[in-house]
Amino acid sequence: MTGIESWLARRGVTVEDVAEIVFSLQRPYNADLNIVECEESVRAVLEKREVQYVLYTGIAMDELAERRLLPQPLQAIMEKDESLYGVDETLALGITNVYGMIGLTSFGYLDKVKPGIIRQLNLKGEKIHVFLDDLVAGLAAAASARIAHGDPKANQYHLPDSP
Ligand code: MG
Repeated sequence: MTGIESWLARRGVTVEDVAEIVFSLQRPYNADLNIVECEESVRAVLEKREVQYVLYTGIAMDELAERRLLPQPLQAIMEKDESLYGVDETLALGITNVYGMIGLTSFGYLDKVKPGIIRQLNLKGEKIHVFLDDLVAGLAAAASARIAHGDPKANQYHLPDSP
């Protein structure tokens, strides 16, 4: 497991979790796609230095907030998961953008529908995942866009009809 994968694992997210979302996004356009290819795509995105830097930064913010180490008013904003904060989504775009505009469309879709691990991260509990839910959506969107760009059959501008 690489450094960044162990950071994700520590926060309850595996490459397989993200690959399942990628599969659900791309499967309607690619009948030959399998989950292993999706995992490979997630790992390829995770190898990018700019992606790793975004993940380290967002995960550190979540962890510092859990330990109540952030200055106010940031600590209160993070504890409330204030919907107007928006910096979590903005940071996640740093991942989504590595494969261009198509990733942005998928990111918006995932942010709205919150499938799989994204929904679990959103459930309020002891943990704070203000950044991680968006980072995972950004990662899945980028890995999905990467597959779409590599596959001439993939329909790059349409999303699945239903979650
Ligand atoms: Mg968030």
